[in-house]
Amino acid sequence: RAMLTLLLATRNAHKTDEIRALLGDEIRYLTLRDFPGAPEVVEDALTFAGNATKKAVALARWLSQSRIAAPEVPEEPMLVLADDSGLEVDALNGAPGVHSARFAALDANPAGNATDAENNAKLLRLLREVPSARRTARFRCVMALTPVTEAPIESASPVCYADEFELQTRLFEGVCEGRIGPAPRGRNGFGYDPLFIPDGYTQTFAELSGAVKNTLSHRARALAALKASGAVARPFSV
Ligand code: IMP
Repeated sequence: RAMLTLLLATRNAHKTDEIRALLGDEIRYLTLRDFPGAPEVVEDALTFAGNATKKAVALARWLSQSRIAAPEVPEEPMLVLADDSGLEVDALNGAPGVHSARFAALDANPAGNATDAENNAKLLRLLREVPSARRTARFRCVMALTPVTEAPIESASPVCYADEFELQTRLFEGVCEGRIGPAPRGRNGFGYDPLFIPDGYTQTFAELSGAVKNTLSHRARALAALKASGAVARPFSV
């Protein structure tokens, strides 16, 4: 029986473990660590869906072109799974949004990166005057799933720019509603976890255990939607 291979467009071991735990061991998982030659994708789209699609499509296209040349690419149905996620704060009109990872760098050093502590400090500064009832926010995650098919023949018509890989991409979204606390609390997790209090809880994501976070998180919910869709269940239609 053919086994489905999923290339996870990440080098983050934490994300890989989370995806494996949710989707199960019937799938073979590869990550960007298995493909040092994979193209770097610039995440410059205006939406999470745009960035996730850009990553999944670029990798699927690259893999379809190198399928014969690269011995590590199995001759089995293969899909690329890419995600993009971030925090949306209502009082800031949805910021930091797609800029979540580099929120604090936007002012000081547009080309550089920002640490989690710098991002959290900026968020607290911008919300200083905002009372607790108006500090509503959510984490959002969009996952893009693109099949690695044979490289398509260039379009016969110069007016038809439809991208085969984009057309075959399926999107799954997960949201976790909550609010931004008055000060960082807790040591678990990463990013904005010390400031984010999910609805129904008094603790921040950084105070809750990883196991609890994994039942609530935007990523877990996007993965649940992916699983429920049957897109990675037998029989594979790739
Ligand atoms: P990415 O989707 O892994 O690129 O994440 C983008 C950014 O969003 C991260 O660098 C974090 O700042 C933020 N972020 C995404 N998911 C989480 C989360 O589960 N907890 C805290 N911050 C997150």
